Amino acid sequence: MRRIALLGLLTAWPLAGVLAQGPYTHADTLHGSNGPRRAWWDAAFYDLHVRVNPADSSIRGWNLITYRVLQPSQEMQIDLQVPLEIDSVVQDRHRLAFRRDSNAFFVTLRAPQRAGDTKTVTVYYHGQPGRGRPSPWSSGFVWAHDSLGAPWVATTDELSGASIYWPVKDYLGDEPDSQRIAVTVPDSMIEVSNGRLRGTAHNADGTTTYEWFVADPINTYDVAVNAGRYTHWTDTLQGEAGLLTLDLWPLGYHLDVARRQWQQVVPMLRCFEHWFGPYPWYADGYKLIEDPYLGMEHQSGIAYGNEFKSGYLGRDLSGTGLGLQWDYIVIHESAHEWFGNNITAQDHADLWVHEGFATYAEALYTECQLGKTAGAAYVVGLRKGIQNALPIIGPYGVGRWYTTDMYMKGANLLHTIRQLVDDDARWRDVLRGLNHEFWHQTVTTRQIEDYISRQAGIDLGKVFDQYLRTTQVPEFDWKVEGGTLSYRWANVVPGFAMPVRVQVPGLGTRTLRPTETWQTLALPSTRPADVEVDENWYVTARNVGGSAAAGSGGGR
Ligand SMILES: [Zn+2]
Repeated sequence: MRRIALLGLLTAWPLAGVLAQGPYTHADTLHGSNGPRRAWWDAAFYDLHVRVNPADSSIRGWNLITYRVLQPSQEMQIDLQVPLEIDSVVQDRHRLAFRRDSNAFFVTLRAPQRAGDTKTVTVYYHGQPGRGRPSPWSSGFVWAHDSLGAPWVATTDELSGASIYWPVKDYLGDEPDSQRIAVTVPDSMIEVSNGRLRGTAHNADGTTTYEWFVADPINTYDVAVNAGRYTHWTDTLQGEAGLLTLDLWPLGYHLDVARRQWQQVVPMLRCFEHWFGPYPWYADGYKLIEDPYLGMEHQSGIAYGNEFKSGYLGRDLSGTGLGLQWDYIVIHESAHEWFGNNITAQDHADLWVHEGFATYAEALYTECQLGKTAGAAYVVGLRKGIQNALPIIGPYGVGRWYTTDMYMKGANLLHTIRQLVDDDARWRDVLRGLNHEFWHQTVTTRQIEDYISRQAGIDLGKVFDQYLRTTQVPEFDWKVEGGTLSYRWANVVPGFAMPVRVQVPGLGTRTLRPTETWQTLALPSTRPADVEVDENWYVTARNVGGSAAAGSGGGR
């Protein structure tokens, strides 16, 4: 997801606040945790059918849920958010009783549910989704018009969850193995969803049904409807895993500008395959779809609304100018195909696994295009956007955590770890290895942290704790007195002992291993000296001595 209200670029801060702050409600727990009426069944296939009516902003449809029974149970939680209504729930041709608890429905099953069984249940529903919700990313349907006045509708719901427009187990930790998305729209519109188009059918009532099929596991907030007056061209890329199809879907009147701007897709895919491994969805292809909001990482169908501008709506988030060398939405959202879609966090509290890596990918793309120094300058430049008001990782099981620090601070954590690894080939192996190890899986941050430590050959436990679970930035305290440099870490979690590279006058570049206890290093001269911390480390530095030269080093 592109970030909300970053640096005041947009005005959605209240949403971020609402999401991040407690108190959390019973409804949040039902939404955000793998509760007892969810955990017993495993989604295998969603067969979603939605009829979209722009004239009154309503939808109607059904979802046929195929599931595996993990443990016997007779009550099933299916999520669908207010104000949408479930009309009926059917299993084995019987209508089932259900009760509603805000955005969750509890369905009483009649047939025995034996462990190991595969069963289906169909949920019929209708309503006007997402009315009154802040948008985007939690609005469900965005009912818009293009600049020629034609209806243009698209969905986006990462923060609210998919159940804002369709009935589903709205839990990040359970993805269907595959999915059909059949969307019916007025004949004047073209509809594009995830995966591949299997067919279209014209209906007698002036509508057309587009049947899309996703062959791979998909996180449910990525399941998208995009309908408007699109045009289309195709391309291919000979990638690491074979021939990858590229399908590009701008509005008809944006064809020329899209053909120019979206040339970045090919170098982007080559760069990310180099750093992260094969694109995760060769079966479903890569698509870029113009949408009436800024952007979203919809799996195999990236939503694009950056107005064909460089940077983030024409701005550079790093302040270095480097962010204007590419299109933020093409780069950032596509990076989520690896981190966010291939590897998906099971809980919103761990969303840095999506956003930290996708933001770091921006720096790697800068590096691919302009060199390593430029990539580093970009990610260091992003630090001005770090707030350190809330920890990156929030409370679990409530489905509501969001802080912009998961983006820029997450990226700077990864950039700092790269310095600790100090071996670019190995670092690349770590990033590729993550995508291989957790291929098409949902994960916890602990799994990601442990994997990186193991593959890097460095125990990074305290480093992750420091940057992900506190708001404190490590402070390198130093002083030069009588030809001796004294140094230590302050403002750190107990046991923090991250190595750091510094410039020491007379000694050149040194890697020091500070702890919370003062250590010393003999200098070749007794003159006052200024010590500089390598700016690639996201730390601060403070001269705590009385007489040495002023200056706080390169850390910031
Ligand atoms: Zn994102």
